[in-house]
Amino acid sequence: MATLGFERGTAFLSQQLAFQGELAVIVEAAQGNGKSSDPTIRQELADSYIGVQIMKYNGLRMLTDLVKNGVIGPSSSIGKLYWSNWHRTLGERSMHVLGAAASIVGATPGSEYELDEFHRIFMSSRAETIYAGASEIQRNIIGERVLGLPREPR
Ligand SMILES: Cc1cc2nc3c(=O)[nH]c(=O)nc-3n(C[C@H](O)[C@H](O)[C@H](O)COP(=O)(O)OP(=O)(O)OC[C@H]3O[C@@H](n4cnc5c(N)ncnc54)[C@H](O)[C@@H]3O)c2cc1C
Repeated sequence: MATLGFERGTAFLSQQLAFQGELAVIVEAAQGNGKSSDPTIRQELADSYIGVQIMKYNGLRMLTDLVKNGVIGPSSSIGKLYWSNWHRTLGERSMHVLGAAASIVGATPGSEYELDEFHRIFMSSRAETIYAGASEIQRNIIGERVLGLPREPR
């Protein structure tokens, strides 16, 4: 449990920096293709920006806990649940920004597909709510070990 706490906690702390970079690329694309004037896309991008800021401050809170107590508790599950869902949604939003163009991925000779940044985010983020403990498992941990709710029925 301690090792997995570190995997869910500190191992992913620096990720929000990469996420900020990815969001900046998506915002730039929306400004480039005019999607930034679409009211729905604007809301989605603003919501993603808010999400990455929340991630940053949650990460700092987790670090403070670590410095004070020397361990990362089960609350690291909150971070894992949050970032993986945020990133999966960002992948979907990057497809919204591309619009119809999102259905085309450049194929390279030898049947290998070369993914651009948008498709890479979309495809790789689908696995993130599964590895390092699926979202359902994180919710169990939060329910039982953070909130002290009864264990789920076996
Ligand atoms: C891209 C990728 C990379 C990975 N990398 C690694 C790695 O480096 N090291 C490693 O060890 N593993 C790795 N994994 C494996 C990953 O940790 C497991 O896939 C994950 O823990 C889910 O386990 P499972 O696939 O056996 O699904 P199962 O445990 O069979 O779960 C199937 C479904 O049931 C749900 N479920 C299961 N138990 C419960 C429960 N008690 N309550 C509620 N819902 C439940 C799950 O959330 C899921 O939706 C990787 C997986 C992927 C997709």
